[in-house]
Formats: sequence, structure tokens, C-alpha cells
Amino acid sequence: MSSVEIHLPKNCGETGHFAGEELKSFLSRCDLHDGITVDLELDMNLGNDEFLLAGHGRYGIKGGSETALLYGAYELLKRFGFCFFGPDPWDTVIPEGKIIPPEVKMHFRPEFELRGFFAVEKRDTEDFLLWMARNGLNFWTSEVNHPELCRKLGMKLRGNPPSGMHRLFEDYLPPSVYAEKHPEYFALHQGKRIFKMEAAESWNICMSNPEAAAQLVENLCAALNPGGELENVSALTFAPFDNGRWCECENCAALGNRTALLLLLADRCSKVIRQKVDRPIQLIVPAYHETLPPPDVALAEDFDYERIAIEFFPIERCYAHTIDDPSCPANALMKKCYDAWAELKKFRLFVCEYYNVSTFASAAFVFDDTMGHDLAFYRRTGSRYINYMHVSTALWGELAVNNCAFASETCGQPFDLTDFLEKRYGAAAAPVMREFYARLRRFSHLAKQLFHYVGKGKMLPDGSNTEKFSFELALKVQSDEYPFFLPGHFEKDVSSDSVPSLEEALELLDEADELLKKADSAGNERVRQCLETDRMRLAYTIRRARFMETLLHLICAEKAGKSMEAQRLAGKLREYGEAMRKDTVSVAHIRSAGAPNLKLYVNSLTATRLQKNYAEKMTQYHLEVMPFSADEGFTVHQG
Ligand SMILES: [Zn+2]
Ligand SMILES: [Zn+2]
Repeated sequence: MSSVEIHLPKNCGETGHFAGEELKSFLSRCDLHDGITVDLELDMNLGNDEFLLAGHGRYGIKGGSETALLYGAYELLKRFGFCFFGPDPWDTVIPEGKIIPPEVKMHFRPEFELRGFFAVEKRDTEDFLLWMARNGLNFWTSEVNHPELCRKLGMKLRGNPPSGMHRLFEDYLPPSVYAEKHPEYFALHQGKRIFKMEAAESWNICMSNPEAAAQLVENLCAALNPGGELENVSALTFAPFDNGRWCECENCAALGNRTALLLLLADRCSKVIRQKVDRPIQLIVPAYHETLPPPDVALAEDFDYERIAIEFFPIERCYAHTIDDPSCPANALMKKCYDAWAELKKFRLFVCEYYNVSTFASAAFVFDDTMGHDLAFYRRTGSRYINYMHVSTALWGELAVNNCAFASETCGQPFDLTDFLEKRYGAAAAPVMREFYARLRRFSHLAKQLFHYVGKGKMLPDGSNTEKFSFELALKVQSDEYPFFLPGHFEKDVSSDSVPSLEEALELLDEADELLKKADSAGNERVRQCLETDRMRLAYTIRRARFMETLLHLICAEKAGKSMEAQRLAGKLREYGEAMRKDTVSVAHIRSAGAPNLKLYVNSLTATRLQKNYAEKMTQYHLEVMPFSADEGFTVHQG
């Protein structure tokens, strides 16, 4: 093997040292034609994550921080042919044959300051965190299994209240402690104070009450200060309840819309945190559901814009259309709210996307095209932080294309699909995999309609509204009030340029399945494992889609009084349902079992949230099934 010489900067810390170690360890695994030298150097004129990389045999990496040097080291490795497509061992590619050191000249400056994933539980693995850093991502959660590794990789960590992202009031102003002495801290409803903060019905506190704010922030400061459960946090989600109820008192009503109320509370808290906590704490206030529009009243002159950021959550969006496509009513409403924030230019803007939202449950949806467009849009319009819900941490299969595209685009480098296909699958399989992904990409235009929902369905305070549509909900409720199809966005057998029909969607999946069978690993064990994981994830996705289609046909047969046909369809439903109940692997690694009331990922049937309907049909048609476990309970989870 030819020699590899690394020169570190003076007084180099652990991150810089690690950059050197990674270079040595990877380069020792390939056959270098010539010896190489890498000079790592700090340059304080560069931005925090910015680096310059140049050379040919002898390389110089100049970085604005040691983290930037680490990113530079990984970029150099990629130029030598190493690929980091995912945390699974078969998704790291080591170049083969004699490697001739390439000539390199590049300037890296990510336009998003924070780039990563929204997570709330401890589910990081070392391989996952390393994949993030190797792809320039730097934003994860403070609930980590490997805090030292996060520090070494230069990760920024977001904190959430211990009971969950939306449980701020429950954790830091619990009615069990304060209701008796201070009922006025809590929501007023029909003349009475309400102390409910349960999952099924959660009432926010009275946000206009200054004493309630003072007590809340006193408890928050104790958590943020040394010894408290948020002591490592530098950014904290400051959110009301998910689909929570709001105080109806006169003072709250007089202060403006709900966003104005929440911002007033955040501002009061931030000013106290400045005095009582020794480090800067960024409060991240969600523009989500009822707080989607900006405040409708002027904020205080001394409002803490520096420490209060807005995180925009377009959960009601659709993925058949880009976020700025005016022809899509759901996205047009999202964009209207987003634009209103962006135009204020006063707030730091976060965006949280939904490429693996709860009920997608790691189905093989492929968003590399819309993602590229949308992330460029967010960047152009002033957003500087980006993350999405809910990345899985292993067994990616097709999801590697999303995560690699997300990493590239958030770092400001257009995603190179051809390179991805050729290097992940090899020259023999790449052409057929391109066809395969084209099918999945078009199928994914239905992702939200099919497995989640689109549209607001609730009037925003400014009067805006779009119809809320969910195929799952229609199958669940089975009433005329909830139609199975949405004209223009989800039809039985009529496709458009942007949206396949249900019929076409299922054909696309079958075609994808045929193509994947044809993909040839050409004897490469790593490629074989990639293809095997892809097949597992595709089979899971097909079963879910076919299960829903069969349930639809069964309901229709019942309505038409075709009892023989219904009995046949119920038998078919059982085949899918029982196979899905045995499949726990496809839904692993998304959210941890530690999340309260989260029964979504018990198996691939619970991911559909239709297990209760399924159980009822099985009883109705006297079909025997495996006994249902308590874990397959019927808890409904949002987000
Ligand atoms: Zn109130
Ligand atoms: Zn749309």
C-alpha cells in the first residue's frame, strides 16, 4: 500500500483529529497508485461549515472550523470513489482496483445553517450519526445514545420536553401541581377552567396570564440549568399541544390570533431565560396547524427576534405538486402562510418537511425530484434551517435515495441520481434501477393522499381553508361524509400528468416489482444486499397499498349487496393482513418504543391504522386470524 500522510492544524481538537483518522482508515482500505498527503488547516475567514479543498496527490483542506475540516475530509474520500449512501454496511462503497489520486478543486458552503432530522427519542446508532456527518448533516436531537460522538461530529442538538415535542405545558406547568392554587393559569372554556392535558383532549394554558408565564419559565430554567433534564440543549421546541384546545378568556382574545398569543408567551419566557440561563437558548416556535399564519397584531418593540425562531410545518401539503405550485390548493394554502412569514424577514425560519411522516412508516416513497425543487425554494426565500420527520436509522432500501438527495440539496449541491445509481447498484443494474425509480417517483405523487392526508380541513383564523382528504380516514369511517376519492388529486381510474389514479398507482408498483426482479447484482455481494433490502421495502409497500385497495373493494361489494364477492374479498384481505402482521422489520428503526401511546410501528398492519376495521371484517366473515395482541391496540397518533 502507498503511504498516506496527514498534517493536522496546531492545537487540533477531537473533531480535527477524527478527520485525520477517517482519512487514514478509509484510504488504507483501497489500493492507492501513489502516496498522498493531506494538509488540514483552519481558516477563520471561512464560515463555520465552509471549506476549500484543492490539490492533486497532495491536497489542502482549509476549513472555518474543525467540523468543516471533517466535511472536507469526507468530500476528498468521495472524490477517491468512496460512497456513503446509508447507515447499513452494504451502503458504504469502497472503490476497487488501482486508484489514481484525482485532481480536485472545490468550495463548499452550505446555505442551510442547520441540516438534519427532527427526532424526539434515543434511537441514534453510531453508523447513522456517521452517515449524517459523512454527508454534511449537523442537526439531530438531544435525546441521544452517543453524546460524545455527536460532539466529535459537530452535531447541533435540539431539545424537546421530556414527555414529547408538544408536551411543554404538561411537563412545565402541570395542572396536578398548580390547578388547585392557581386555576387562572389554565384554559377557560364556557366560564370554567379546564385542567385536562391528556392525549385525547389537551387544553393549552392561558397564554395571556403573566403569572402562568412566570411559573412556566421558572420551571423551564430549572430544566435548562446544570443538573436539569435539558442541560445539554441549545435549541428548544416551544410548542402548544398537537391539535390542542385554546383558552377562551377575554384577555387571550384581546391579544390577537393564536400565533400572537404563543409568541407573546415565548417572548416572556425568552427574556427570563436570558437572565437565568448562562448560555444562549433558541426557542423554536411552530407555525403548525392553528399557528400557521403569522401574528395578526404588531409584536413588542423589544421582541426577542434573535432568540425566537419560527419553524414552518407544511403537514397538510401534497407531494404530487411542489410547494410553490399554485395549481395545488393544499400547497397554495401552505405557501400563502409560508410567504407571509418569509416576507416579515424578522424571524429566523426553520422548515420541517414530512418525507417520512408518521403513517408513511418507511414505505418506499421516492421524493428526490420534488425535494430538489422545494429545498431550493425554501433556501431562496430565506429559510436557513431544514429538517424532516421522521428519518429511519437503518434498513433504508429505496429510502437511501431520499436521504442522499436531502443531504446533497441541503448542502447546496444538486443531487446526482446517475452517480447514485451507478455506484450503488453497479453498471449492470443501473439502467433498470433508473426505470424502477421512475415508477416509484410517480407512485409517490400519491403518498400523502394514500397513506396520510392532504388539505387543511379546518378554517384558519384568516378564513383560508382547503378540503381535508385522507383515503385512510375514508376507509376507516365508511360514511358518505368522507368520500374515497378527491377529484384532481386521487381518483379511481383517471390519471393526470401529476397524479396517478389508484389503478395506475398499483400498476406502477407491479412494474417496479418486475424491474427490481430483473436487477442483476453481477455477483457483487454488497449490491445483492442493497437489492434485497430494496425488495423487502417494496414488498411491504405493495402489501399496504393492496390491503387498502382490497378493503375498498370489500366495502363497495357490501354496499352493492354482492355477498359472495364480499366473502371472497374478505379472504383476500386476510392474506394481506396476516402477512402484514408478521412483518415487524419494515416498520422498525423509525420511532422508538419509548414514545408514549405510539402503537403505529408494532407491525406493518398497525402502520395503516386500519387494524380495527380489519379485525371487525375478520369477525364479520368468520375468518380465523392470529389472536390480536395488546400492542396492536387502536391508539390514534397524529403527525
Ligand atoms: Zn386566557
Ligand atoms: Zn397537490
